[in-house]
Amino acid sequence: MDKKLGVYVCKGCGIGDAINVEALSEAIEGLDVTPHLFKDVPVLCSKEGVDTIKADIEGEGINAVVVAACSPRVLYDVFDFPGCLLERVNLREGVTWCQPPGEEDTQMMANDYLRLGITKISKSELPEPFKPEEEISKRIMVVGGGMAGLTAALEGAKAGYEVVLVEKEAELGGWKAKFYKEFSAPYNDIHDLSVTSLIQQVQGHDKIKVYTASEIDKTAGGPGLYSVDIKSNGGSAQEKIGAIVMATGWKPYDPSNLEHLGYGKFKNVVTNIQMEEMAKAGKIVRPSDGGPVKKVGFIQCAGSRDPERLPYCSAVCCLATMKQATYLKQMDADSQAYVVYKDIRTPMQTEDLYRKVQRDGAVFIRGEVESVSEQGGSLVIEAMDVLLNDKVRLEELDLVVLATGMVPTSMPAEIPKKEMPAEGGGTELREVAPDSGFFSTPALRLQYRQGPEIPTLKYGFPDSHFVCFPYETRRTGIYAAGVAHRPMDSTQAKSDAAGAMLKAIQVVEATAVGAAVHPRSGDMTYPDFFMQRCTQCKRCTEECPFGAINEDEKGNPLPNPTRCRRCGVCMGACPERIISFKNYSVGMIGSMIKSIHIPEEDEEKPRAVVLVCENDAYPALDMAGLQKLRYSPFVRVIPMRCLGGLNLVWIADALSRGVDGILLLGCRHGDDYQCHFIKGSELATTRLSKVAETLNRLALESERVKVEEVSIADAHRIPEILNEFMETLEGIGPNPYKGW
Ligand code: SF4
Ligand code: SF4
Repeated sequence: MDKKLGVYVCKGCGIGDAINVEALSEAIEGLDVTPHLFKDVPVLCSKEGVDTIKADIEGEGINAVVVAACSPRVLYDVFDFPGCLLERVNLREGVTWCQPPGEEDTQMMANDYLRLGITKISKSELPEPFKPEEEISKRIMVVGGGMAGLTAALEGAKAGYEVVLVEKEAELGGWKAKFYKEFSAPYNDIHDLSVTSLIQQVQGHDKIKVYTASEIDKTAGGPGLYSVDIKSNGGSAQEKIGAIVMATGWKPYDPSNLEHLGYGKFKNVVTNIQMEEMAKAGKIVRPSDGGPVKKVGFIQCAGSRDPERLPYCSAVCCLATMKQATYLKQMDADSQAYVVYKDIRTPMQTEDLYRKVQRDGAVFIRGEVESVSEQGGSLVIEAMDVLLNDKVRLEELDLVVLATGMVPTSMPAEIPKKEMPAEGGGTELREVAPDSGFFSTPALRLQYRQGPEIPTLKYGFPDSHFVCFPYETRRTGIYAAGVAHRPMDSTQAKSDAAGAMLKAIQVVEATAVGAAVHPRSGDMTYPDFFMQRCTQCKRCTEECPFGAINEDEKGNPLPNPTRCRRCGVCMGACPERIISFKNYSVGMIGSMIKSIHIPEEDEEKPRAVVLVCENDAYPALDMAGLQKLRYSPFVRVIPMRCLGGLNLVWIADALSRGVDGILLLGCRHGDDYQCHFIKGSELATTRLSKVAETLNRLALESERVKVEEVSIADAHRIPEILNEFMETLEGIGPNPYKGW
């Protein structure tokens, strides 16, 4: 593309007072690209300002626009010029609001940022959206026909999308259909099952195709292009699918681990699931002899919140007990319930049901169960009451009900083992890591290089970020809903299912126009591989966090652009530097670093390049600016899609040009990670650990390169982090390669 560049500098929001806008035009002399137009405008986001740019696009043929004004994170709808390349230079939050006005160093900072922006646009091309040869499907598959799956299917169909629902059981409804009654709003009582009408609506909807007694044999392709083989009633079918909602549900915690609470020892110790079965059958009786039940002890958190058993709270067992205590009262007004609990967790309006059960006469004992035993055919619970600080003995119980928790179906009964390299050489059989793709039990049987299933977190729930991207899994286009996602009750499962279906709709719509989904929603670029120089090293296929790149039998990468989230991790991984995007490449960032003006050593103006993750660290920097926090004027911030895109050549180039240090600001990693691209900051840290050795060999101090973890809420830490890094560099002294 022949570029005709227009540079527009805003003088509003204090920019014109803090920096000499006219001097900026001199600072960009000598760059590879000379602007066709350079204009300063009093308020660029005003109608007059935007019209100025539009008029130049129309009249002067400007097709590449640099807007030097506020952060690119704001007013993106105002500065939108279809068909033109656009680069935003952050002079407001990034310079004017975090530096003293009128100072030489402030001006130098602004100069450099404009140079960076112009260099970037000069290396960018307009993206051409990915258009596969095959037609994009907008049909959405829902796997699992329980409460969440049924709701997702119905919501999708109501929104006008064709839905394929696959359920492994012969009947729809999941666990819910096997229960007697439900707790749902209004919570002052229990109610008949709402799942019954949901099943009817799904079965009667002409946009929903239902497969029961069916399993998925194979899921190939990617968003918009999935080809799903379904085994059904002895036959098979193939469906073209655009996105998948995984509502595969849960299974009860295995009670065989609860022998200490009498399960398996005494027939009259049952789980809350067995209690439902009895209630559904119309009679709650003693399993030992079919005799009547008058006194029942409920034991909460049976195995739950126990590091040795089920470490988490399932968030429903307390309400299930309230419901079952109500069954007792409804079936026999003379019955008596005792509930031994650690905490009663009945949030928000569900507290009404707790109050009702209290009013009905149930006795609540806060404490730890010490033993469950049998005496004369009845059961006895001994517990330590932590409120009375005394022992409590519940005698002559006809039944003890264990409130067991929920385990996602993706959690295998045993953690699978795999042949892996042993420390002393050879291989050994070891438990696989949760994120290995082998952890979950097969539901989708994905044809992905990384494995057949969705990577899970430690409790077997699909990996996603609870706050930032709650429905997403590590496989683009596949969204978890209901208890497949996290423990929840059926009311929550319904809203969760609607959310997951919305995400599925977003992905099919975005894929149809070649755009990315979260977190780079709307991005039309995708990685381009210059395959002639590929050495089949497999780094890109191994490091892509989303399994977007398969391999052929010779080890050549086979990118699936519709699975790609455009993070650029593969770009950083590739030692041959043959992966690039139309507006993001190793060469581009390298050129940007080279465009930074490096003062001579005797000027005592050190320079640090700060490579910043655009998802958390860059917003934190913006917030620091917004709060007018001051930090060193010697840093030069370059945003990255993800620190996982870090290519070590940038470090070498920067240091050899005399940059004094390189700081990476990225997300927290590890178990409680916050990286929007899962392991980008972790990869960057690993790559940097290799750099430290190289620096030492080159007689450059390893402290010149550092990585810091910041979250989006860390604006207050920004000055401290940047200033401390600059102090370290000043302590070490100037880069000896300066001026070479
Ligand atoms: S850009 Fe990210 S998601 Fe896309 S192929 Fe590369 S590593 Fe995978
Ligand atoms: S990382 Fe680069 S060289 Fe290695 S397989 Fe991928 S594209 Fe080829």
